[in-house]
Amino acid sequence: DNYKKHLLITGGAGFIGSHLVRLMVNRHPDYHIVNLDKLTYAGNLGNLKDVENKANYTFVKADICDFEDMQKIFAKYRIDGVIHLAAESHVDRSITDPFSFAKTNVIGTLNLLQAAKEAWKPDYTGKRFYHVSTDEVYGALQFDDPAFTEETNYNPHSPYSASKASSDHFVRAYHDTYGLPTLISNCSNNYGPYQFPEKLIPLIINNILHNKPLPVYGKGENIRDWLYVEDHVRAIDLIFHKGKPGDTYNIGGSNEWKNIDLINIVISITDRLLGRPEGTSKKLITYVTDRAGHDLRYAIDSSKLKNELGWKPSLTFEEGIEKTVRWYLSNQDWLANVTDGNYMRYYEEMYASR
Ligand code: NAD
Repeated sequence: DNYKKHLLITGGAGFIGSHLVRLMVNRHPDYHIVNLDKLTYAGNLGNLKDVENKANYTFVKADICDFEDMQKIFAKYRIDGVIHLAAESHVDRSITDPFSFAKTNVIGTLNLLQAAKEAWKPDYTGKRFYHVSTDEVYGALQFDDPAFTEETNYNPHSPYSASKASSDHFVRAYHDTYGLPTLISNCSNNYGPYQFPEKLIPLIINNILHNKPLPVYGKGENIRDWLYVEDHVRAIDLIFHKGKPGDTYNIGGSNEWKNIDLINIVISITDRLLGRPEGTSKKLITYVTDRAGHDLRYAIDSSKLKNELGWKPSLTFEEGIEKTVRWYLSNQDWLANVTDGNYMRYYEEMYASR
């Protein structure tokens, strides 16, 4: 084939991955984009209906925990670049089932690193292994602490963040030990279309639609920084092409919100768009026992990415959150399909017979 690059994106059927696949397929028609995903509960090909018939796009159902499969995929598609997003991603699930987080996030990442190293050695020219990670590896901040920088020491608290921290260390080890051209970015909380409704913002919207309680951990005092998902994937594209191998880049929205304040904003936009009187759904707020080991605050300093690579978010928080709520309200069939498993059947029909 005549493709300039053969890019493997893992986890491309998930929330952030599907936005990245869409961006890469459309922005780089001279790249072959191979989307590798196991299609767990969090992966839905219904997120990618608009790209599935593009000539430069291929979907492969596989598990990153299977090393031999990874070797075969690198060879078959002549992969020369990787952007790795496949992961177990939900903190609450990591508290009840830490082992699957260690398997996918740590062993799965190690499998991909080793497969890349074997496929690419001894000449790494033009190759890139990009690992997408989280700001949660840095631990928790107090209210007045400065934001995390790339130099902040790792201090993960949940099984999720411990598994992501471990995978980050393996990526750096492959750079430092074998010279693999790696890149890492650590991003704050993402929001936007196609996010599985176990995560805060789509959960609140979905529960308002079904008149169900809106659970708030503790007193809702925890603070998170929020970034619109399309701004995250634009940063990934930039770092993949312009980042310095071996380096780490922090990505954030400079948009800190207390959970309870964020929930109130989402309620008020949703009520307004549904034509209900302001605050109608506030009565659904239900305070629940705090998450074990709940980190108080995350905040991320993205000066390096802004100064060195010229990235900046394209949307304000007000624009992003309005766009997001509108999307969920106009795509209630998507919400219903991901919650009742319809997209699993969609996959069977679309792909299993091919
Ligand atoms: P997600 O849960 O929506 O998607 C994860 C995808 O990985 C799913 O499509 C799933 O099917 C796939 N997957 C899971 N296990 C797999 C395996 N063993 N083999 C192959 N595929 C597998 O997650 P997301 O929110 O899109 O996050 C993507 C990445 O970005 C993760 O690595 C996460 O740690 C990181 N991240 C997420 C956020 C956020 O706010 N969501 C913030 C920073 C970093």
